[in-house]
Amino acid sequence: MREEPKFVNVFTTLLRDLDALLITLPANVRYLTDFPHAQDVWLWIDGAGPRLLASPLYENDLKNFGLPYLLGRPKDWPRLLAERARGRVGFESTHLSYGDFQKLSESLKGAELVPAEGRVEALRVKKRPEEVEKIRRAMEIARAAYREVVSELRPGVREREVAAALECGMRQRGAEGRAFPTIVASGENGAFPHAGASERPLREGELVTLDFGARYQGYHSDVTRTLPLGRIAPELSRLLRAVQDALSAALEHIGPGRPLAEPDRAARAVLEAEGLLRYYPHALGHGVGLEVHEAPRISHESQGRFEPGMVVTIEPGVYIPGLGGARVEELVLITEDGFLVLSDDL
Ligand code: ZN
Ligand code: ZN
Repeated sequence: MREEPKFVNVFTTLLRDLDALLITLPANVRYLTDFPHAQDVWLWIDGAGPRLLASPLYENDLKNFGLPYLLGRPKDWPRLLAERARGRVGFESTHLSYGDFQKLSESLKGAELVPAEGRVEALRVKKRPEEVEKIRRAMEIARAAYREVVSELRPGVREREVAAALECGMRQRGAEGRAFPTIVASGENGAFPHAGASERPLREGELVTLDFGARYQGYHSDVTRTLPLGRIAPELSRLLRAVQDALSAALEHIGPGRPLAEPDRAARAVLEAEGLLRYYPHALGHGVGLEVHEAPRISHESQGRFEPGMVVTIEPGVYIPGLGGARVEELVLITEDGFLVLSDDL
């Protein structure tokens, strides 16, 4: 449990107009409590403070954790809350299942259930120094695994084998796991932004896109590289260069106080000049932290501005059916006077 008074006050701030707030999104529970099994608990906050709801499986973990808790089987949690629930009770409507909502409605008859979205997510946008450290560590782990694997990349190796080597390398270096299923997309598979890693062998003269990351103490890294295997056709070189130019252009528009929409506008202008804009179907980037994809979203339609402490990806990509694709993704920390590329040296 966190001790800083600043953090204790957070619970009061979260309640605001509510008498109680039920947090069910694991990343939000983890953020507010640091409890490592956040995916298996709920967090209840009311005037008396925070309280975890957990299965008896976690009794030993919770005994010395320093946060009050209620034990019971998950299906009984709504009933355990019944005697505490008064007045307006907020819940995370985009994360609570319909079944759980029904059970809550039945058990909390005397209270008014109020959808309360994004309260914790808003706090998570700006990372505290200890969070940045964990993201940096997750990035270091991914970087070291990549360096080892990239020296082994050659025609004939299957995409799946490359993905497995990356994931194994990250585990061996201290990752809790992969941040998400590793993408290794070669040749025409590169035209699918969310390609997995297939049985296809890498071939000479193709591009191969590797998109991967590690999880460390709940925090993630996320980075993408597209590499040519041997000599590639001029049309593929052009694709890769355009994406790299779009990335460079985007990076020129990043810094505290600058509009979130500017980098994507710059990237899109580069791709448009190359006639490639219609092959760029996604946003430029996203926040990274306790979730791989979190606020802020970085797109030409984004509102708001960059703030120091944000950790975001910048990842332009181009995907041409039948030909292939290229994406380059950097992980960036916004600082007081500019930004730092955490995914450099890859
Ligand atoms: Zn990625
Ligand atoms: Zn990403």
